[in-house]
Amino acid sequence: MQPIAPGSTIGILGGGQLGRMLAIAAARLGYRCHIYAPEQDPPASEVAAHTTRAGYTDADAMARFAAACAVVTYEFENIPFEPVAAIAQKVAVRPGVEALRITQDRLFEKTFCNERGVATAPFRAVASVEDLKTAIAELGLPLVLKTRRMGYDGKGQVKLERADQAEAAFTALKSDALIAEGFVAFQRELSVVLARNADGCIVSWGPVENIHRNHILWRTYAPARLSDALRSEAERIAATLAEGLDYVGVLAVELFDCGDRLLVNEMAPRVHNSGHWTLDAAVTSQFEQHIRAICGLPLGSGERLCDAVMENLIGDEIAAWVDLLAEPKTKLHLYGKTEARPGRKMGHVNRLYPLGSLPQP
Ligand code: AMP
Repeated sequence: MQPIAPGSTIGILGGGQLGRMLAIAAARLGYRCHIYAPEQDPPASEVAAHTTRAGYTDADAMARFAAACAVVTYEFENIPFEPVAAIAQKVAVRPGVEALRITQDRLFEKTFCNERGVATAPFRAVASVEDLKTAIAELGLPLVLKTRRMGYDGKGQVKLERADQAEAAFTALKSDALIAEGFVAFQRELSVVLARNADGCIVSWGPVENIHRNHILWRTYAPARLSDALRSEAERIAATLAEGLDYVGVLAVELFDCGDRLLVNEMAPRVHNSGHWTLDAAVTSQFEQHIRAICGLPLGSGERLCDAVMENLIGDEIAAWVDLLAEPKTKLHLYGKTEARPGRKMGHVNRLYPLGSLPQP
């Protein structure tokens, strides 16, 4: 792949904090970014050269945006698929549209994993209450019923403990494109964030451990405490999926650690919250690496320079910003969002520890 030279414009679909941190990394390498987002004041626009403010289904605006960019990427997977597939006829979209199609639908995603020999929770497609009852009979209880598309941070999912909850659970999700998954009694949640370039070269930052509060990622511990065997199994799984998708860019694979085996929960075809620690504790951050991969540049090293705990600042936790800055080995990242609504990711901190002295979660 011919490298895209610094000075070129990188298009980013989506204007949230991930787009913002991608644009900052791109600027350090001499690129300009063009943000495409429907919101009024997207956090990414403050640090980017251009913004198109339009809906994703506005075909004219999307075509003009594509014509102005050397390459287009996306910072979230819940963008309507068709408009992205349309601009991919005109400009390179990386990661590709097939990765987007598969990862934006939980049914396609889990089917894809199983077809490649990667284990997930057992699942069934659910389009009716009858389907759900069959899934309960086949998978047992408890189970988790989820919308196939658009779910995030625990939204669009219900846990069923009893068969008589089927009707209420089905109605609550207001959709007939659902997936029922067997409930996994996992010990911990892990993720592997890696980058793959067009030559098939893969650089991973290694498995990390994620702790959620109210279904939102709270802390990431890098590295995860894992046996060598499970560590290499996690890496192998993530690499298998990246190769299967012929992936270019940064990919996150979320895993359930069940003690003796790992199950994939989901993939994110983008930079990921559990990779934010790489900004301060790795040779190459996930944001820089994504820019390198999509521009056809050599990938940087993913070596960890120190151990780190990333903590998200959610809602009014951002009020502690001065105290956080006073912590000597803590790096603060704020996203420039003005309104601190409950559950909103306002920023994060990376607390740094010497290699081998990570505190216990
Ligand atoms: P998801 O949106 O699929 O990432 O789910 C959000 C969170 O719900 C996960 O991080 C898990 O903590 C939990 N969860 C999701 N699916 C399952 C499952 N099949 N079994 C147990 N817990 C689950």
